[in-house]
Amino acid sequence: MKTILLTEGKTRFETPDPAKFRTSAGDYAPSLTKVFYNPHMELCRDISISVAQVASDTFNGLYLCDPLAGIGIRGLRYANEVTGVARCLINDRSTEAFELIKRNIALNGLDNSVEASSVDANVILRENRGKFNFVDLDPFGSPAPFLDAACSSLSRRGMLALTATDTAPLSGTYPKTCLRRYGTKPLKTESCHEIGIRILIGFAQRIGGIHEIALSPVLAHATQHYFRVYLLGQRSAQRADELLKETGYISYCNECLRRTTSPGLIPELPRECECGGKFSHAGPLWLGKLTNKAFTQQVIQDLTARDFRLKHHEISLLLRCAEEADGPPTFYDLNEVAGLVKKSPPKMDRVISALRECGYFASRTHFSPTGFRTDAPITEILKIIKGA
Ligand SMILES: [Zn+2]
Repeated sequence: MKTILLTEGKTRFETPDPAKFRTSAGDYAPSLTKVFYNPHMELCRDISISVAQVASDTFNGLYLCDPLAGIGIRGLRYANEVTGVARCLINDRSTEAFELIKRNIALNGLDNSVEASSVDANVILRENRGKFNFVDLDPFGSPAPFLDAACSSLSRRGMLALTATDTAPLSGTYPKTCLRRYGTKPLKTESCHEIGIRILIGFAQRIGGIHEIALSPVLAHATQHYFRVYLLGQRSAQRADELLKETGYISYCNECLRRTTSPGLIPELPRECECGGKFSHAGPLWLGKLTNKAFTQQVIQDLTARDFRLKHHEISLLLRCAEEADGPPTFYDLNEVAGLVKKSPPKMDRVISALRECGYFASRTHFSPTGFRTDAPITEILKIIKGA
């Protein structure tokens, strides 16, 4: 296999040239290569490094597994760039990938705390029951088929990192697929990516619950191509029960943009909106916080000290996640709300400060440049937009 030498963060690695695997439209097409390396995920991997560093400091050392490793870039970078890694298992079923992983381990001079293996991801996770405190599921597509084995491999306290690239089903473009894969009804609205992330978290929590593991989100972000979620796991049936109380449904009126939440797995859902419109529903999904502000600030602090190429993008993304962390589920689109009162959209900053002056939570959201998050009722929002 022909390879080239690349560097990401402080880690050097051999990979088949990603420029060779492109669709006719010029996009990187991982499906065209036998050995997986996606250059567009650098931002995501940089953030993962800092998350892992914060986790390593919290847990007093890391026992890591990258079970769907491709060329091994995630695992290699954890082992090479995070301090306190006691063990790092890098696995890919493909023998070509396995050969590259071994070469890349040697290339970075990594010691014998780093192991390579080449078996099915679910097999390697089940063989290591309770052995890892940081498991990074980074599949091509949905992490759903690996969640059960990943939960069984987690120790009493551990972090589960998930990537999902099946954003179309999760965001409501393919609702039947979402229902089959995640047991949840999605909803195509301006907040559909956030709803998708909440569906993914809720699903992971139900799988965690089978293992008596409570999985609390500490950071979640979305881009056009993928969702990324970090869940802090704690072995406690009681805590897992408590998390279920924050599972429920989001109901949404298309006519007046009103939305309500109903906690519980079988709640009574509202049918008719005050405006006379009908509510549509998404759920069951996670209604609690997507991001833990204090944790995210620690991650930002770690990132600040690193010299990543994309550092400024990464920090501004995380600052926005922290800013919106304490807001309610779902956000509004400024253009859509302004359209409702037949006004051209006012400046975002003016709307946000006006909402805050009235005593409401208000922030921008990383999910959309034209989105704002607030706990103000829609009637109040419309008044403010009219006046702005
Ligand atoms: Zn309505």
